[in-house]
Formats: sequence, C-alpha cells, structure tokens
Amino acid sequence: MIKTVKFGGSSLACADQFKKAVEIVKSEKERLYVVPSAPGKRFKGDAKVTDMLYRCYALAEDGRDFSKALDNIRARYDEIVKGLGVKVDMDSEFQAIDSNFRSKNGGDYAASRGEYLNALIMAAALGRPFVDAADIVLFDEHGTFESERTNETARAKLKALKEGAVIPGFYGSLPDGSIHTFSRGGSDISGSIVARAVHSDVYENWTDVSGFLVADPGIIDDPVRIDTITYRELRELSYMGAGVLHEEAVFPVRREGIPVNIRNTNDPSNPGTWIVESTCQKSEYIITGIAGKKGFCAVNVDKDLMNTEVGFGRKVLQAFEDNGISFEHMPSGIDTMTVFVHQSEFMSHEQRVVAEIHRLAHPDSIEIESDLALIAVVGRGMRATRGTAGRIFSALAHASVNVKMIDQGSSELNIIIGVKNDDFEAAIRAIYDIFVMTRI
Ligand code: ASP
Repeated sequence: MIKTVKFGGSSLACADQFKKAVEIVKSEKERLYVVPSAPGKRFKGDAKVTDMLYRCYALAEDGRDFSKALDNIRARYDEIVKGLGVKVDMDSEFQAIDSNFRSKNGGDYAASRGEYLNALIMAAALGRPFVDAADIVLFDEHGTFESERTNETARAKLKALKEGAVIPGFYGSLPDGSIHTFSRGGSDISGSIVARAVHSDVYENWTDVSGFLVADPGIIDDPVRIDTITYRELRELSYMGAGVLHEEAVFPVRREGIPVNIRNTNDPSNPGTWIVESTCQKSEYIITGIAGKKGFCAVNVDKDLMNTEVGFGRKVLQAFEDNGISFEHMPSGIDTMTVFVHQSEFMSHEQRVVAEIHRLAHPDSIEIESDLALIAVVGRGMRATRGTAGRIFSALAHASVNVKMIDQGSSELNIIIGVKNDDFEAAIRAIYDIFVMTRI
C-alpha cells in the first residue's frame, strides 16, 4: 500500500502545525510520498508566505530595497526550523534567493520558494530524500502542463526511492529550466501528479477542514460532512462555489482511479471525505450536497411561434458569443428562451447584446431580470429516488421562496434552481432541512 500525502498551507503555517503534519506522516508507514505547500496563514488576517514572496519580488523588480520584506519571510521559516529542531542551511538558501531576486529571476521563481523551503524542512524532519519539483513536473514553452512527460519522468525518479520522498508542491519547470507555477492553490495538483506517478492507492489531501460539507457553514450551522462524493458530483458542487480542492487536481488521479481522501490536520482521527470515481455506497441523505452562487442575470427572449423557427436559438446565442460572454444555463419554453449569465460580466455589454439579439433574431420582446442566484442540489442518489424534485419545491414553497427557474440535467445528478439573491440563504436552509434534518 502506498499513500501520497499533501499538506496545505494552514497545516504548515508554523512549527506547531508543522509538527502535527510530521506526526501524521510518521504514524503510517504507507505515507511514503509527501507534498508540502508553503506556510499559510497562522491566524485570521495573517499573510501567506506565497503572498509575501510575490510582494517582496515586486520590490526587487522595481529596483527597490527588499531586504526587510525578505527578512520577514526568513523569520517565518526560522520559527519553523527552530521549533522542529531540524538542520537546514537557511543562510545559504536565503543568500541564493536574495541573489536570484536581484538578477530578476521571475515572479514564478519567487513564489515557488515558499514550497521549496517547506519541502527542504519536511525532508529534514522525516529523514527522507528531497526531490525538486523542477526536475519532475514539466511544462512546455507556452507554460502548458505536460502530463504524460511529467508522469514518465516523475515515475522513473520517484519509484526508485523506496523509502519515499518529499516533493514541493505548486511548481515545475519550463523547457529552458526556469521555474513555472500552477495557478494559486496548485499544490493540490502537484500532490495528484505524484500520487499518479508512484501508483498510490490513496491520495490524502490534508487541510484545515474535515472534508466537504453538505452545505456552506456560513449559511447552515454545523452542517454534516459528506462521507463519499463522486468526481462528477464534486465538479457540479465546486462549479457552484464549494471549494476545498483545486479544480484541476482531480485529473491526474482520476486517470488511474486513485481515490482522494480530504483530511483535517487538526482532527486526524476524523475520516474526512472520500472522492471516488464511482461507488455503490448510497449517500446518507439522498442528496450529496447543496451549493450556489449569487449574481446572475436572466435574459428572457420571447417570440411567438419560436418553436417553429429553425436557428432562432443559435442567433440569440451568437449575440452573446460576439460580445465574449459565456452563458451558464439556458432553460426554454415554447415561445421563450432564457439565457443565464454572470451579472458582473454582462452589465457592461448589456445594451449591445440586446441590440444584436434584435438585429439577428427579431424577437417580439427581450426582458432582463437581475440579482438572481443559482442553487445546485447535487446527488447521485436522486436517480434512484422518486419525488426528490417534489420535496425540494414543497420545501421552498413552505419557506415562501419564489422559484424563478428549474433546470434538471438528463443525468439526474443535479437540479438547478434560480431564485432572487435575497432568497438565496432561505432557500438553501429549506433544502438542507428537508433532506438532512428531517431525513426524508
Ligand atoms: N502556496 C500556493 C498558494 O498560496 C500554492 C498552494 O498553496 O497550493 O496559492
């Protein structure tokens, strides 16, 4: 059994947190490959080391004095090294960083040092080899991640290290050897890449929450945890804003059918959430999760006998495409179609889009409704259960929420509901209550 374990920034933010991570790795001999993030926030309002590095490098790039900013970063690492009692030559590491900043080695190089130094410390604490991500995570000259070349290179290098290894997250290298990072939060992707390369049985992703929750804790008090979620359910929920894992992190492990286990460094006995390809395990509450977003706007286009006109829908969508606006949902009736778009994106193009729809499709009328929210109720269990939609809508009616739009995909994996922004929280509470609290 092989496990790859990734620790997020809050799990490595200071010596005390770092010690917990080291203990977690040591407590199971299967936890062979370790991928650390950079030190994150120690408390609300604190700075992440990655952000400190970006800011420090911006000073260097402007030719300004950055020594104080670099000292502050160094202090974060000194506290960790001292607290753990490990030996890492921070003097020479920071000298190298200082001189590379002076020679303007790039923002990606700067940001990557957060993970690089944490991996050196983790390797020293565990007594395991350090493998630089620059040698095994490869991008092409345009910065596009090269998954297969990376997989082969990483596999050859890591599989030879039977005692395991520590690999920094977040970055890799371009063909010319310079450092290139993933987007923010990208250590999740690095962990997934390593898990795939070494044929892990599990990819454990350690963070500061005990997995995914059925609903947003900002709306529901102490929501229940999701035990098991499929990749597709996760995609639906994260699109609607339920984020714990980087969106691209599932791709490498998914190719090999490796399950992801989200765990909490501050509560290691909690089993967390399993993310799997498919499962015969039913979710406990029919629905797996509820998520949503505010800030949509609906463009209703009416035309008598629309259903008989070939190409009407294409012409309407053309107007959005020409203005560079992507649409989110498009429910339709016999003589009407509605296009849901992000309000912030749409606002500045609004009148141009309306004019173009008139010009291209000659509708009878166009009406725009703003300040709408979309809620996704997601669950693989819905397919096998009658009456799920009925329960949702009676719960919403009881909560006096007016439903503006309903969209159920043919996969029966989710039901999307449009409500006014003001009804958003009440709607989520009503749906949560009917499925989780009363457990029908
Ligand atoms: N340290 C990087 C960030 O703050 C990457 C990561 O933590 O995953 O975005």
